[in-house]
Amino acid sequence: MEKLWLPYQQMKNLEVLHEVQSARGVYLHLKDGRKLIDAIASWWCVTHGYSHPEISTAIIDQINKVSHVMLGGLSHSPAERLARRLVEITPGGLNHVFFSDSGSVGVEVAAKMALQYWYNKGDTKRDTLVAFKRAYHGDTFKAMELGGEQSFHKLFYSQSTSSFHLDAPSIRHVEGRTAAQFETEITAIERLFVKHAGRIAGVIIEPLVQCAGGFNMYSPVYIQEIRRLCTKQGILFILDEVATGFGRTGTLFAVEQADVTPDIMILGKGLTAGYVGHAATLATTEVFESFYGPDNETAFMHGPTFMGNPLACAAALKGIEIFFRDKYLEKINEIETQLSDSLPSLLTHPLVKDVRILGAIGVVEVHSESDLEGIQEYAIDRGVWLRPFERFLYTMPPYIIGASELTSVINVMKDWFHRHP
Ligand SMILES: *Cc1c(COP(=O)(O)O)cnc(C)c1O
Repeated sequence: MEKLWLPYQQMKNLEVLHEVQSARGVYLHLKDGRKLIDAIASWWCVTHGYSHPEISTAIIDQINKVSHVMLGGLSHSPAERLARRLVEITPGGLNHVFFSDSGSVGVEVAAKMALQYWYNKGDTKRDTLVAFKRAYHGDTFKAMELGGEQSFHKLFYSQSTSSFHLDAPSIRHVEGRTAAQFETEITAIERLFVKHAGRIAGVIIEPLVQCAGGFNMYSPVYIQEIRRLCTKQGILFILDEVATGFGRTGTLFAVEQADVTPDIMILGKGLTAGYVGHAATLATTEVFESFYGPDNETAFMHGPTFMGNPLACAAALKGIEIFFRDKYLEKINEIETQLSDSLPSLLTHPLVKDVRILGAIGVVEVHSESDLEGIQEYAIDRGVWLRPFERFLYTMPPYIIGASELTSVINVMKDWFHRHP
């Protein structure tokens, strides 16, 4: 039996496991000699492709200086420079950066920050966070609670916390989902805010696309409306840009398309482009200053061992430099154009329920999950790595993918359906 336990996998049903021996550019090189175009960028993070020589060099240079050091009471140049750079490139007002080692932990940090923000301000009744159905914010659960009532987590024990889930925003392009429906959704949110006024600490949402929840793409106006309602009710507005950040939706950050500033924002995945796992939770000065005080009573009691890891920071800094220098937004725009020119023809196929495209995301939704059974191996035989989940066949390629490579990916996606009339 397998020693290696895989994620989201019924291990009993595991038939083949392809071993990657090396990877370069958009290609995964398998042990059996085949090479595959990675059409999903290793769960959307490998934005610069594999083994990018400049990023590799940046990491190696850093490893020879210091590969890791705790941020407790110490600092280092890569963390300081990355914090400064993130403040520069994110929406104005997000002026403070708290690092962690994964997107899930970055979300935990944001949630704790929002709850403690109110507590520090003397408002001890704001124990609730609002999220949306079909959202995905990570996999973590319970670690702090299992640690028992330690003095450094005291606040989170004296308070019981809860969350509400609102209906997911409606898909933006589906006919019949009219302005009236939009009004209904916004009114429902406002009603919840008013009903629980004084109890809600923050609202968290994935801007523009709920990715792992089924690639639900929705209008930027929705984000503007939630921002407006949060401001009106004095609720913190938290954006999870772990998946959408760093260009995926066609702008550097998805929130730019709504032209608002959140109070807290989480970055991950593309932040370090798949080289070293890392995340960042950014906060406004207003949030940051609520943690100022005479002692640790109001300090933020959180600190992942590997936060601000120098190798992760070096990779992120180099990745951001290349993103601007090599005009990645233009590449993403070209990917979007190519996807838009080719995938929508599938809409006439009886198995296909919907086709959605935004930035470097192309999604084919089928009516039944079983319609995608076997496509992973079919794609591998055609030299492409695709891994659909549930009813969603999608590509989220590295931005460096060439037009002909993307054509190969698109052809595999389309041929699967043409094989199945
Ligand atoms: C992937 C993802 C996370 C979790 O990030 P990990 O690094 O896997 O812990 C959180 N939020 C969103 C929107 C994601 O897509």
